[in-house]
Amino acid sequence: MPHPMKHGHPGGHPHGAHGNTRGSTPGRGGAMPPLDFDQAPFLVIWETTQACDLACKHCRAKAQPNRHPDELTTAEAKGMLERIREFGRIIFVFSGGDAFKRPDIVELVKYGADLGLRMAITPATTPLATREIMQELKDAGLSRLAVSLDGSNSGIHDEFRQVCGSFDHGLRILKEAQEIGLTTQVNTVVRKNNLGDMDAMCRLMTELGIVFWEVFFLVPMGRARPEDVASAQGFENVFNKLYDLSKTATFDIKATAAPQYGRVVMQRRAAEQQEVDVLTGGTHHSLKDGIGRARNVTDGDGFMFISHVGDIYPSGFLPVKAGNVRSDDLVDVYRHSDLFRALRDRNNLKGKCHSCNYRPNCGGSRARAYAMTGDYHEAEPFCAYIPPHWQKLIDEGKVPGDAEYFAARFRAVEERPMV
Ligand code: SF4
Repeated sequence: MPHPMKHGHPGGHPHGAHGNTRGSTPGRGGAMPPLDFDQAPFLVIWETTQACDLACKHCRAKAQPNRHPDELTTAEAKGMLERIREFGRIIFVFSGGDAFKRPDIVELVKYGADLGLRMAITPATTPLATREIMQELKDAGLSRLAVSLDGSNSGIHDEFRQVCGSFDHGLRILKEAQEIGLTTQVNTVVRKNNLGDMDAMCRLMTELGIVFWEVFFLVPMGRARPEDVASAQGFENVFNKLYDLSKTATFDIKATAAPQYGRVVMQRRAAEQQEVDVLTGGTHHSLKDGIGRARNVTDGDGFMFISHVGDIYPSGFLPVKAGNVRSDDLVDVYRHSDLFRALRDRNNLKGKCHSCNYRPNCGGSRARAYAMTGDYHEAEPFCAYIPPHWQKLIDEGKVPGDAEYFAARFRAVEERPMV
């Protein structure tokens, strides 16, 4: 690693510096200080490897059975963790592929724990996730384990993951992780063909003993195609279900690649004259393991993704590279690169997102705008909301409605970069 610790002491805390506090964590409970997303992300995800025994239909990583020969080495990964620690005690996620395909995974978790990072892992739902390795990870200092469940039953989930028995492994892994004392999370991808299963998914989540349900709204990249994405109205229906569930759930709910959920929450709260902030507040179930959550984390703004070969991206769904940990300092890239700075400046947004009264709280998915139009500043193509100012322009014939606007900007599949 060319930059071991060169920017100062790992214990240095970046928060409290000047700048925005869009990512402020909840006032009640107050377990974490306000975050300054210009200085540090809330969350960094590392794609430990692309190797995986599953072959999911919409895999972001286009995972394959074998490890890539140019993956970060153990020493390089440790150097990366040291630089991550410069951001403070942020959350670090070992993702994949399947992180359990790396034989050094326990060693790396232990190294991160000794640095003081709060860490989670998202293994594939396969037999590789044994009780023994989960115990080793817990002993090494892991806080949370997340598994993907993309349907309320094995038929729906296994069809999506394309491996028989994957759903049952997911339930087993959750149960065993809880038995050894890890807190657990479920990740679910919302796509066009599981919209009808969302009520059953909500019911299933309430039975699993998890602390966090992360609901991903499909971005058409990797193996996913635009026709796999639910409609803007389909998104809206799921947002409302999630909001309803959040009022009684014994776990926190987060919508990923869908900041417009924040807009729906604000609209619903205003209509109900209700004050509890379900985006970050409520009962803080996910603080049980010290991980918690922040509001308004989105591509490059509170978030950074590092690929299996060390490439640095604003998220795993926005394949525009800002550097590589082998040649660039990841802290410098996050704070000062043109790409990350441009993504954090919401004045750059275009179309209805620029005109939107919810822009400070939402801003739309930059990854989905990029996937659909080739411009990460474009308006979110899957938002059902028309801001009042934009509606006025439509009524005056100065701008087209959504269908015409996005049809003119659509980028064909053949033109999309694949990662
Ligand atoms: S128009 Fe854009 S900023 Fe406004 S709610 Fe929709 S996605 Fe968010």
